[in-house]
Amino acid sequence: MGVYVHVPFCAQKCYYCDFHSVVVSDEEDFSEVAGNYLISLRQEALYYRSVWGESPLNTLFVGGGTPSLIPPKELAAFIVLLRETLPFVREPEISMEANPHSLTHEGAEQLSMAGVNRVSLGVQAFQDRLLEAIGRAHRSEQIGESVAALRQAGIENINLDLMFGLPGQSQRDWVETLELASALKPTHVSCYGLILEDETPLTRWVSEGLVDVPKDDEQAEMFETACRILKGDGYNHYEISNFCKPGWQCKHNLLYWHNKPFIGLGSGATGYIKGLRYKNAPDVQGYIESWGRGAPLYEGFNEVSLDQEMDETMMVGMRLLRGIDERAFRSRYQVGFSDLYREAIEDLLARGLVEYTEGRLRVTYQGLFLENQVSGAFLR
Ligand code: SF4
Repeated sequence: MGVYVHVPFCAQKCYYCDFHSVVVSDEEDFSEVAGNYLISLRQEALYYRSVWGESPLNTLFVGGGTPSLIPPKELAAFIVLLRETLPFVREPEISMEANPHSLTHEGAEQLSMAGVNRVSLGVQAFQDRLLEAIGRAHRSEQIGESVAALRQAGIENINLDLMFGLPGQSQRDWVETLELASALKPTHVSCYGLILEDETPLTRWVSEGLVDVPKDDEQAEMFETACRILKGDGYNHYEISNFCKPGWQCKHNLLYWHNKPFIGLGSGATGYIKGLRYKNAPDVQGYIESWGRGAPLYEGFNEVSLDQEMDETMMVGMRLLRGIDERAFRSRYQVGFSDLYREAIEDLLARGLVEYTEGRLRVTYQGLFLENQVSGAFLR
């Protein structure tokens, strides 16, 4: 079980992004807002301390937004406080997302001393013209520098986030990105296809015909290329979008794919505690004011019924290439998934999208390309 902390601040808004994040324009204002935000996060952690109880927490993931925009000294102090507030195990996995443009050597050292032992770098591409086309704040030369700074600070567990299907991205660009990423020898690589989310500038430009993005079949070819190159370089493909060197899976994300409880902290964060899923309102100022009064600011929450929980366990579990173990499912829910989802499974088997071997149901190579259909089949 773990904790997710959302840090909703960014240097600029990437053209494809629909995450909750606020653009930081004025340094002085930001320093005050960031300080207040960290105080509110601490109050929220204290609030959940009693609700959560003593179940040990194995992971902490500080995501965003761009957590590396917060002055590292303050972020490091916050992480230390959080570890004292909530029942973390002695050596939790502590991941943090960072952008290459806002990660310094000094910052990496401070975070490492606070216990950060895994960093996920938002690389996306190694070609400056592509980074510009999607509105990223960093440039390619900063990627290697960031990796070196992390290693010097003793952080070996490094993920590189890459994206395919970008405007103007050729198959050759994508191969180059994969090869340059792999040459940096990260422990983990994530590859995400660009999604044109509603109401983003990029979606508008594409619909107005101003920008072209690779078609679905070209994106599928890019995904195949990623599987081939990364597997060839010794990475295990363990989740649809995720590859790692043996033994370096992201423990925090595994918790989501196993549908386990977690505490979510921060404006816009979601959490899942004792059968209740909640979503905080995506409103930084409202969040700070609300915790000033000692109360959460929810956008909504709902009780998850046992049926819903089982559906969710199947849907997220099928993202893992190892699939779902029938015996583990039975011991968790006192019923096998083969009985509950007989028709859905028979249909997926007939279409060649899943296979059932040695008591595990898992997605086939063909099913990887139609993951939405595989997951969707378990929603009753
Ligand atoms: S850095 Fe991440 S969260 Fe911030 S705008 Fe870009 S994609 Fe969105």
